[in-house]
Amino acid sequence: MNPFHYAPLPWNIIFGVGAVNRLPEELGKLGLENTLVLSTPEQVDSAREIDSLLGEQSAGIFSEAKMHVPRETVDLAIAKVHELRADCTVSLGGGSTTGLGKALALELDLPNIAIPTTYAGSEMTNIWGITENSRKVTGRNNKVVPSLTIYDPELSLSLPARIAAPSGLNAMSQAVVNLTSGELNPMVSLMALEAVRALADSLPKIIHDPQDIEARSAALFGASLAGASLGTGTTSLHHRLCHTFGGSFNTPHAETHTVLLPHCVAYNSVASSDGTAKLAQALGASNAAQALLDLAKRTGAPTTLEEIGVKESDLSEAARIATETPMNNPEPVTTARVEALLRNAWRGSAPEAV
Ligand code: NAD
Repeated sequence: MNPFHYAPLPWNIIFGVGAVNRLPEELGKLGLENTLVLSTPEQVDSAREIDSLLGEQSAGIFSEAKMHVPRETVDLAIAKVHELRADCTVSLGGGSTTGLGKALALELDLPNIAIPTTYAGSEMTNIWGITENSRKVTGRNNKVVPSLTIYDPELSLSLPARIAAPSGLNAMSQAVVNLTSGELNPMVSLMALEAVRALADSLPKIIHDPQDIEARSAALFGASLAGASLGTGTTSLHHRLCHTFGGSFNTPHAETHTVLLPHCVAYNSVASSDGTAKLAQALGASNAAQALLDLAKRTGAPTTLEEIGVKESDLSEAARIATETPMNNPEPVTTARVEALLRNAWRGSAPEAV
């Protein structure tokens, strides 16, 4: 067996239908008594339910969380924490709300409780991000790992199919990248492969019946494992490309991951043949990259860069930006090959090792 290093993050997880009702008791166990509930404006009604569940333990609600954690939002939330003398935050929502809780944990050393309602998986990583002057700065710090994460699949039932499919495929990308980034870490691979199986099985079921609580549970579990593998594993060309499109071309996060994933898997399929074979097996297919594209099609998720607003004339510039600095990737990366990959992804051609 190859030598490996595995350093798990300080996770503390409660998972189960109805688990959110344990929040007041669990906060008490952590010695926290004055909570600021965080949400997006769209989820303020759910935040109010958490606020009433907490009663005296809630200081109030801040419902201005936004995609990519803008600096201005963090500053407004910090002012609210001080005004209400909150001693912790509860992030109810997807990666945007979890991201705000993480930013507050980073800057104020404030414990954060995550209650994820999408499949972003951010609660399982130590990665934070704040966007300032149109630039997203990211880093890793264990103090942003939530003190407690409560997964309650019932809270994900309201996630519409058009968000659920790309969100689940974004989670899938976190697991897949770990299987196809070259060095297979046996501990991370265990989680990544189970994440792939759980998500591939559950996402089509959710699209068929959004109220299928078993499928919702499996997807949330898969997303948690996928986040864990991102949190403790490596990233490569796929993440670089997603970061380039999100940062420089303002494409939507989960959809960008969904569209690029099959093409990046094909790109690395020779250099990481062992991981790609394991991935194909977990997907129950002979061609992993094609199976990922088929899954996106079956769940109605976007499959071309064109659909998510990228212009054909942007592709050369995107390839240039993405390859400006060296990256960790098993297959050698050149600007010309990345551009060829992007042309395939723009058109939605069959993924191939360009
Ligand atoms: P999101 O949090 O922006 O949510 C998308 C929309 O869905 C929002 O309007 C939200 O209110 C709504 N929503 C969420 N759950 C719902 C539910 N159950 N019912 C109805 N509506 C619901 O999107 P996301 O994809 O979860 O997160 C994306 C963000 O997360 C990006 O900024 C990305 O960079 C970040 N992210 C970070 C990490 C990390 O490790 N730091 C990992 C993954 C994603």
